[in-house]
Amino acid sequence: MRDMQLLLRQIDLHIDSLSDVISGIRTKRYPTLGPSYLVHLIELLAEEVQKTAVTRARQAELSAGSVASTFTRFYIHALQDLASHLRYVERAATDKVLPGSVQTVTSIARQLYPDAVFVVRPQWHFNYSLTQPVSTYRSAYTNNSGREDVSSGLISSKAFERILNCVLPSGKSRILVLGFPRIEKDRSLFHVALGHELGHPLADEYLSKSEVLPREGSRDSMHAECKREGTGGMRRPEDLSVLRDQARATDETLQLCRRALVELIADSVCLHIYGYAAIAYTAWIGQMQGLDVCWRSPVEDHYPPWRYRLRNMVLSLPEDWVEQFKKQSRMGPDARSRFDHRWSEILELTQSKSDVDSINKKPELRQAYELLGTFLPQALDDIAETMASRGLAISDIPGLARWELVEVLRSDYPPDQVLLTDSDEPDWLEAEFRGILNAAWLSRTCFDEDTSPLDKVIAPKGQGGCWLPTAKKRDRLVEKALDNAALREAWRRRS
Ligand SMILES: [Zn+2]
Repeated sequence: MRDMQLLLRQIDLHIDSLSDVISGIRTKRYPTLGPSYLVHLIELLAEEVQKTAVTRARQAELSAGSVASTFTRFYIHALQDLASHLRYVERAATDKVLPGSVQTVTSIARQLYPDAVFVVRPQWHFNYSLTQPVSTYRSAYTNNSGREDVSSGLISSKAFERILNCVLPSGKSRILVLGFPRIEKDRSLFHVALGHELGHPLADEYLSKSEVLPREGSRDSMHAECKREGTGGMRRPEDLSVLRDQARATDETLQLCRRALVELIADSVCLHIYGYAAIAYTAWIGQMQGLDVCWRSPVEDHYPPWRYRLRNMVLSLPEDWVEQFKKQSRMGPDARSRFDHRWSEILELTQSKSDVDSINKKPELRQAYELLGTFLPQALDDIAETMASRGLAISDIPGLARWELVEVLRSDYPPDQVLLTDSDEPDWLEAEFRGILNAAWLSRTCFDEDTSPLDKVIAPKGQGGCWLPTAKKRDRLVEKALDNAALREAWRRRS
């Protein structure tokens, strides 16, 4: 009895402090509406958790004995988890992000997932990420399993869906939280990596179709055989252990293959959003982190080597894409020779097979990638079709990325507008997000002073190094251009 009162008091205190934090968060400004949806969701879920806790506490009191400690564990933990997610919202405030980048990333994201709202926020670890709080909450708090114990069903499924309907605008059913490294806040160019993160939900949806990859079948049948052999005594124990190894290997092979396929599909989504910028970014990060590094374990953390990922991107470009890119970007002779030089360097990176060698050294990886080869081409075709159907065809990019924008940037102006003087009446061309980022990556990769890898950046000028303030200055101009583009889009929506 006393324990129960203590628990309810604790829950009250948690709710109080949650409300305090929430009212602070509500006074901040945000570049998009996504954060206010998330904070509202967290608030209503916390209230519902409190409500069910009180009801359950009364029921438990009426029945037998004290289950206070169990209650404490589940209800207080749920409230603590919800409170910790308020940081997603708090960090998405306008003063913690670059609003232009956030608005432009969000408008691309909306095109890709019309049923979602988005929160973009910096995070402390050096990584880009995507989390889906709605599905996390649904599986953690609602009673999907049909059990009726304390651990499941902190909130009834019906109440959960009612709250969701009340929080999200019509037609929206999920919230996607995108994270970028805090330390790269000022580098809009690197936020190309968010395009990869945006590919993950699409990859999951694609792979959830049962025909895409063999799932458990092969492993289960081997397990069944192990079991049969174990009880029937048909084979010697040594044979049995070989069978067990095979079953494990098959399972691991499938998991590795699935992991690689997920990452390569996400890369492909990034490629369709950003085109050349996606490839230039991948080449850059690969050179920074090691092109042939290939982790095998733990299996969940397996990533294909960067060189493999880069090659996959280059190979999935439509046949005459690079030619179209040069032509429609209107590169002059000097621009072409700079671009051709960079492009041949990128191709050189993909022609070496040292990544495949490191894959082949480990039998389970070799098997996984052989299997991958049979699924990948179809998967990439299907993703290309999906992207085009959502208005993000890679064939649009050549027309968006004009070399004039590179020239504007190199004259120290934000590369979002160009005065076209080739007709009788000069006219302003307004660049959009994808054009701006491609111009930025063309500038960075086609002119030596802006070229990373890092050793070049920090080497003194005159020894092949870049003059760091120049690179920083151009990053800021790109950011300004993104701001301008976002502003123009907002005006257009309003008028
Ligand atoms: Zn990924």
